[in-house]
Amino acid sequence: MGKCHSEQFNSEKVTSLGKDWHKFCLKCERCNKTLTPGGHAEHDGKPFCHKPCYATLFGPKGMSAS
Ligand SMILES: [Zn+2]
Ligand SMILES: [Zn+2]
Repeated sequence: MGKCHSEQFNSEKVTSLGKDWHKFCLKCERCNKTLTPGGHAEHDGKPFCHKPCYATLFGPKGMSAS
């Protein structure tokens, strides 16, 4: 489950991927960039930024970031 599972939401909470996250926990698993709820990619339940991380890790070949 997500790392927010057992934590309490005393601080700001955001909802994305059908789960609740602390605002500061919703960040890219690869580059730690802060993400916008609903405005990011997802893989295996983990949030990623679309570019460059998701495209680099999981995107179709030939879509390398310029
Ligand atoms: Zn959290
Ligand atoms: Zn990223």
